[in-house]
Amino acid sequence: MILVVAEHANGKLAKSTLELLTAARSLNRAGDVTALILGSDILAIAAEAARFADQVLVAQTPALAQYDPELWTAAIVQIAREGEAHTILIGASRSGREYSPRVAIRLDAPLLEDIISLHDEAGSLHAQRYTYLARVTESISAKAPIIVATIKPGAFAPAASLPSPSEQWDVDLNLPTARLKVTGKTTESTDRVSLTEADIVVSGGRGAGTAEAFTALIEPLADRLGAAIGATRAVVDAGWRPYAEQVGQTGKTVQPSVYIAIGISGAVQHLSGMNKSKLIVAINRDAEAPIFKITDYGIVGDVQQLVPAILAELKK
Ligand SMILES: Cc1cc2nc3c(=O)[nH]c(=O)nc-3n(C[C@H](O)[C@H](O)[C@H](O)COP(=O)(O)OP(=O)(O)OC[C@H]3O[C@@H](n4cnc5c(N)ncnc54)[C@H](O)[C@@H]3O)c2cc1C
Repeated sequence: MILVVAEHANGKLAKSTLELLTAARSLNRAGDVTALILGSDILAIAAEAARFADQVLVAQTPALAQYDPELWTAAIVQIAREGEAHTILIGASRSGREYSPRVAIRLDAPLLEDIISLHDEAGSLHAQRYTYLARVTESISAKAPIIVATIKPGAFAPAASLPSPSEQWDVDLNLPTARLKVTGKTTESTDRVSLTEADIVVSGGRGAGTAEAFTALIEPLADRLGAAIGATRAVVDAGWRPYAEQVGQTGKTVQPSVYIAIGISGAVQHLSGMNKSKLIVAINRDAEAPIFKITDYGIVGDVQQLVPAILAELKK
């Protein structure tokens, strides 16, 4: 069994889960691709997962209402053992990075971390990941009865749905008593779609000019298109935008339907985080800018004039 630990938020399956399912389905390994849903009040999420995985295991208990690395580890280890999983795929999210080493240790399994590609060969699992501040792409492989891998968000396309929903199974867990208590939660109030989930990303670079100009140009366009905002490292380093918005080798990897690059030169470190986008549009005043080598539509001109003009057209 290939066990995919589903990520979900606000009652919905995260896009990263569909990416994990693509990675799982691409493997030439025996057994079903099984999605594991952990949490409380997760039946709708399980039903959604059944449209994409060969089977769904539903571990629903109030004890899992809040994420807790110890409980997540215990649950995954129990299910992996009972289901004789040979491969466990986990999202390289903040929580996934936290509990995946614990799962690997308990199962005495090798851990392939933060991987961007994955394939089977002669019984070994081969993967690639960035290393040395993303200057180097490293190839790694593991051969063991059970292997744990975490997958970098955005590295795989989301899985397509199956012709008919698969079966869902309830599982009983023997969980330890929680030692961690969540005493409060504050959420940054934003209506904006998250960068890694977004269907459209409007990204800005140093060509926007200043922090204020970035806000004035990029935000209204993103709002109009219902898009997430991305930024280059130059912009983040300058303090114009938060690191959470950085796209690239040392930021997020995105794969939206449309990526609009505004005032971005197209450095290789930026391209590696967005070059799998389905349609790429760029605006840059330099016709020789490297970004134009990968664009579907390129507009040569000044962003200060073009972006307001595009926005005016969209408003019509
Ligand atoms: C180890 C390492 C990791 C890195 N990781 C990342 C990463 O994760 N993400 C990332 O983005 N970068 C990363 N970088 C940095 C990367 O190399 C580039 O420096 C960066 O992407 C450049 O950002 P930029 O395109 O905004 O700026 P610039 O390269 O300065 O490009 C600005 C562009 O705007 C255009 N422009 C200027 N004014 C206008 C105007 N008025 N109208 C239209 N166009 C205009 C210019 O022609 C130019 O092409 C990394 C670098 C290293 C060494």
